Amino acid sequence: MKENKSYSIKFSLEDGYSPNRTTKRRMLSNMKEMYLDNEAFEFMLERSDICIYEFYELGIPEKSSELAFGTTIIYPGKVGNEYFMTKGHFHEVLETAEVYYCTKGHGFLLMEDPEGRTEIQEMTPGISVYVPPNFAHRSINISNTEPFIMFFVFRADAGHDYKTIETKGFRKLVVEMNGKPEIIDNPKWEI
Ligand code: ZN
Repeated sequence: MKENKSYSIKFSLEDGYSPNRTTKRRMLSNMKEMYLDNEAFEFMLERSDICIYEFYELGIPEKSSELAFGTTIIYPGKVGNEYFMTKGHFHEVLETAEVYYCTKGHGFLLMEDPEGRTEIQEMTPGISVYVPPNFAHRSINISNTEPFIMFFVFRADAGHDYKTIETKGFRKLVVEMNGKPEIIDNPKWEI
């Protein structure tokens, strides 16, 4: 058996990047049907397929004894009046928690369990949030100028269930109204 070894990896406090490692990028075209305003989405996509967010997958073994970690960088912008956000996911192993720590920017962490309980936490640099087991989670950049950057850690075998959110969405959305973020009911959400 291979001996366990410690290691260190740098994630920049400036831009969230780790030197010599590549991120996974989610482009606008990867976010089809995720935003409420489809017309605004199509209009934007015709002009340019921009990067909405990126994150690291370091290839840590997917074992319950291991921890996956890295940064997520969500760029500022909106589709219609809905802020740029991650797709959001449940963990395949539903009963697994996650920790996020904000290093830059301003955002919300939106959480929702299968029974419909919603939790939302505001994040600024220095704030950490505990995402409890069972809760889907989505990160939303509520700044119009600055990237929203977080460091995350979760049990490495937790897996990602994106499908449930891709098909159903979240019960709540975060949109800009009168220059401020507002949490509204998702009109497209159905049981
Ligand atoms: Zn997660």
